[in-house]
Amino acid sequence: MTSLSIMLNIVLFGPPGAGKGTQSERLIEKYGLIHLSTGDIFRANIKGETALGTLAKSFIDKGQLVPDEVTINMLRSEVVKHTDPKGFIFDGFPRTNAQAQALDEFLKEIGTSITVMLALEVEENELKERLKKRAEVSGRADDANPEVIANRIKVYNSETAPVKDFYQHQNKFVAINGIGSIDEITNRLFEAIDLI
Ligand code: ADP
Repeated sequence: MTSLSIMLNIVLFGPPGAGKGTQSERLIEKYGLIHLSTGDIFRANIKGETALGTLAKSFIDKGQLVPDEVTINMLRSEVVKHTDPKGFIFDGFPRTNAQAQALDEFLKEIGTSITVMLALEVEENELKERLKKRAEVSGRADDANPEVIANRIKVYNSETAPVKDFYQHQNKFVAINGIGSIDEITNRLFEAIDLI
């Protein structure tokens, strides 16, 4: 991978159901970025019945995080697959401070860094509603069970929300109102990126 050119590397952040996946699709199209969703990669591994998939499933089904070491190694191996990318959207990663630290370190090794964290803000009741609706179409077991959803939100508040501070300290944190139509939210994200 050559990394001499300047990349646009975005951490798209937010609680479960905030709209990260939907908005990532819009952003990759406009900016030509590579979308790395740890949730999608885990689900592909579960479907393919790989060893990683079996391990990940045991955590995902309970609404727990997959252990950092496993997640970090997986993400690192995805990043280095791409030669000369314009940039990445990290969706669902980092979800802990240890992951954020590791991401900084391995981006540094390849001569680049995170440009910005865009954090979609959506209140808890709205999230629960969205996940309930998504369960009807996603076929995701972790969306169908209210207890699992509650645990995902709890884990988000305790382990993932603090990752905001990590990027705030680096002056890379931008909050985006995640309530509104999909197009409105996309436009807010475009505006924030174009201001960088
Ligand atoms: P959502 O953000 O809607 O909850 P994701 O598709 O991003 O869903 O993630 C689904 C599940 O995959 C998470 O609940 C978690 O168990 C696991 N997972 C995804 N990303 C990570 C990560 N960075 N670290 C640990 N576990 C993760």
